[in-house]
Amino acid sequence: MSRFLKEKLKSLETYTPGEQPQDKKYIKLNTNESPYPPSEAVINALTRSEIEDLRLYCDPECKKLKSAFAELYGVSEECLFFSNGSDDILNFVFWAFGQDGAAYNDITYGFYSVFAELHSIKPTVVPLKNDFTVDINAFLGQNKLIVIANPNAPTGIAVSPAEIEKIIASNRKNIVVVDEAYIDFGAESCIGLTEKYDNLLCVGTFSKSRSMAGARLGFAVGNKELINDLDRLKYSTNPYNVNRLTQIAGLAAVKDNRYYTDNCKKIMDTRDFVTSRLRGMGFTVLDSKANFIFAKSDKISGSELYKKLKEKDVLVRHFESERISDFNRITIGSREEMEIFLAKLNEILGE
Ligand code: PMP
Repeated sequence: MSRFLKEKLKSLETYTPGEQPQDKKYIKLNTNESPYPPSEAVINALTRSEIEDLRLYCDPECKKLKSAFAELYGVSEECLFFSNGSDDILNFVFWAFGQDGAAYNDITYGFYSVFAELHSIKPTVVPLKNDFTVDINAFLGQNKLIVIANPNAPTGIAVSPAEIEKIIASNRKNIVVVDEAYIDFGAESCIGLTEKYDNLLCVGTFSKSRSMAGARLGFAVGNKELINDLDRLKYSTNPYNVNRLTQIAGLAAVKDNRYYTDNCKKIMDTRDFVTSRLRGMGFTVLDSKANFIFAKSDKISGSELYKKLKEKDVLVRHFESERISDFNRITIGSREEMEIFLAKLNEILGE
């Protein structure tokens, strides 16, 4: 840290991303990436001539992508915003809408508390219930920025749009952001409610179900005034925040939606298979509607299991925070990867 850094930033607790080891090949079940590559259509869209066009700036409005996306989702283009990953949008959200404070769960996506601190926003931390479900009543009438990950991470547990609607309806002076990063793996989106409520913003990503984590493409759907607000921040920071190649890949992915919905089905089937195998081995596994599961065993601590798996070249994600330190979050890989994972797990438990 240099002596030039602002005082406030010196004490900032930054987000810790999952390990991205470059040293050797792991079975990588730690950052909720897709085990499947982008579709052939995406790969073919990234032609030599598109790469040569990298000398030109990209379209800051992402017009082609917006138009295809609007059609697929049945929303109007003016209600859509694209950015450099959904983290970028969440940053904007806290920056733009946090003036009355922000409420979010104690166990949820770790970036919310980082953004709250970064933008000097007073946090209201709402504990999950003992069974790790969201306490809907605790969010009612908060009248501040509310951010809910649905399905939640790292638990994988989803709530219904009807439950979230109660929160939106009771929080009309402020906005509710539903972070739908994992929505395509079996939960129901709140996008349909954005026409009814001007204080709802749904945020999504191409990183998980659309196999494009490395391309950085996030989106938000909401009332057009909210989208204008996000545009104000984008055009005051980095109007070109979705690069040319990502726009082209994103457009091809949207047009090839069936490939991705089929992948999601495969991942959900594999999730069900792994869940029942783990439960058969005595693990507690929360009911997940995401592309990961959250599991613990009485036979081995969360940190020990994480370490032993890593020794066997399988990476999962372990969180130190007290309420969840017994657990590991395990991304659902391909069926073959998960069979190797289960075999290594059996070896560890037998040792
Ligand atoms: N929300 C949640 C709940 C996440 O787990 C992630 C992935 N780390 C994100 C948002 C951000 O995803 P991205 O920036 O890759 O779109």
